[in-house]
Amino acid sequence: MSASVILPPSCIGILGGGQLGRMLALEARRCGYRIAVFTDEKPGCPAGQWADAEFNGPYDDTEMLDRFLNQVDVVTAEFENIPDPCLVHVEQKKPLRPSRRAIWTTQHREREKLFLRDQGIACADFRIVSSYEEFESAVNALGRPSVIKTAAFGYDGKGQKKIESSTDLAAVWADFEGNHAVVEQWVPFVCEISVVGARSMDGRMAVHGVIENIHEHHILDLSIAPARVEPSVREQALELWEAVAEGLDYVGTMAVEMFVTAAGQVLVNEIAPRPHNSGHLTLDACISNQFQQQMRAVCGLPLGDPGQHSPAVMINLLGDLWPAPLTSPDWTPVLSHPRAKLHLYGKASARSRRKMGHINVVGETVEEALENALQIKHALPLDR
Ligand code: AMP
Repeated sequence: MSASVILPPSCIGILGGGQLGRMLALEARRCGYRIAVFTDEKPGCPAGQWADAEFNGPYDDTEMLDRFLNQVDVVTAEFENIPDPCLVHVEQKKPLRPSRRAIWTTQHREREKLFLRDQGIACADFRIVSSYEEFESAVNALGRPSVIKTAAFGYDGKGQKKIESSTDLAAVWADFEGNHAVVEQWVPFVCEISVVGARSMDGRMAVHGVIENIHEHHILDLSIAPARVEPSVREQALELWEAVAEGLDYVGTMAVEMFVTAAGQVLVNEIAPRPHNSGHLTLDACISNQFQQQMRAVCGLPLGDPGQHSPAVMINLLGDLWPAPLTSPDWTPVLSHPRAKLHLYGKASARSRRKMGHINVVGETVEEALENALQIKHALPLDR
């Protein structure tokens, strides 16, 4: 193994305090690594609960950032919306994996879309607009329906609006004025899929396969793996993931969300420069899960086997399921099922649409896993 390998008990620094950092911390601590978390959340955040040290402050607090950096051997990020000056500062002092460039490109829809176009990677046709006139001509060129999305800090469908035949463009633009926005052709997809995988420092890649995703109100509801898609869709999806990973010279775990059209064409929707909600089923279904792979990639270790040993379905648990902010639901339907695993993120209180945890259900076949998952889902008071 090369000299640049970072071995336990070295310390992995995580930017961000949410559930993705928590699951990385759990995985890495099992292997003997130490963990330091830097977050603008309050102490005791989901990742901080499993960290050896937690730094709580704004991302522009360079003095606190330096104290964090002094303790760590390598830094990764568990969410992409980290201000660029913070990423620049980190990268000057410690190895940052994935790189600032990869995070910077993918944290902003305009940069992400231009990257995809430059690389010749298939995605929905789009225009970048910064005035009402440009917006109007973009909608005329792309046709209706189309969708306008904020350029920065959008996720889970936030900051976007579908343009239907009757939509009043002036009213929509009033919400976006002053901002750069991306206008995208509407894709009448037959299903949404994602590919989650990792790329190591020496450019090797290991993907978990194709995952089928079902959203409700723009938030992931169910993930199903392996996805029930044609082999040609699978091949395109894996090729697209590899093209994105190579184009970004990516190191770490990365997810690419995609649309599948009725004609069987696969288009990239979004890139997540980190583990992804749809990859949570890898925790119970794969030999090396997405957090194990992230740990290995950022520490310069060889990647593990991403292979899936069991078909699986993941059910997201949103705060709407909680009877009161501090009162947990009755978990009997999950805990009494021999093939279901409950994962909770240790969030202090529940609120609507907040991601609180997930359930993974495995089966001999994808149909069996899905049947069991739907039984469990219906036994939980999900439609409160
Ligand atoms: P995003 O935040 O861009 O991932 O979008 C959230 C969800 O909105 C996606 O998962 C799709 O269900 C839907 N969506 C976004 N863009 C498009 C598009 N161009 N065509 C059709 N549906 C879209």
